[in-house]
Amino acid sequence: MRILIVEDEPKTGDYLRKGLQENGYVVDLARDGTTGLHLAVQEDYDLIVLDVMLPGIDGWEVLKKLRETKATAVLFLTSRDDVNDRVKGLELGADDYLIKPFAFVELLARIRTVLRRNPQREADTMNVADLEIDVLKRRVIRDGQRIDLTAKEFALLHLLVRRQGEVLSRSLIASQVWDMNFDSDTNVVDVAIRRLRAKVDDPFPNKLVHTIRGMGYLFEERT
Ligand code: CA
Repeated sequence: MRILIVEDEPKTGDYLRKGLQENGYVVDLARDGTTGLHLAVQEDYDLIVLDVMLPGIDGWEVLKKLRETKATAVLFLTSRDDVNDRVKGLELGADDYLIKPFAFVELLARIRTVLRRNPQREADTMNVADLEIDVLKRRVIRDGQRIDLTAKEFALLHLLVRRQGEVLSRSLIASQVWDMNFDSDTNVVDVAIRRLRAKVDDPFPNKLVHTIRGMGYLFEERT
């Protein structure tokens, strides 16, 4: 398993690299955003630990640029316990976050969870109506047109399709896609659904994502 750490604080970077190497990971360390983004795009990592506050281009910009081409799992490090920061990171397609300062064991646990959630061995194609999902290549095609999704949008669609015909509550979606409870922040789910619909449903006559008022969302083909 290869991990990229993007962290400008020398002590923290060295400490994280050492700790992760001791736990059996192959680790690269970038000390600024530009180098981090370059490595993230050029190399294939299983996970990126990304500090938000970086000189040059910050973590948000790194994540945004990375997501234009790659769905590599990203765990971001934020120094403020700010709900806007968290939502922003998750909206940009991060898989999880940690608030500094954190215990190394907690970082290790989060890394393992994210890696477990993003297994590389799925090799499946799913079809619903004229929608086709290639899980391995993370490619979505509808009516012959390629649809580009962020990592989170893909995870959300994957969940909806896996459990098609079932009404999924916002809290279930939040826990499955983001692995956390948003409590009062379940509008994160609504925002994500809206974005997914704009790409997957709005341009096409047959709608697949349905809102069940007061309950949640349902994915099914209705003819
Ligand atoms: Ca920093």
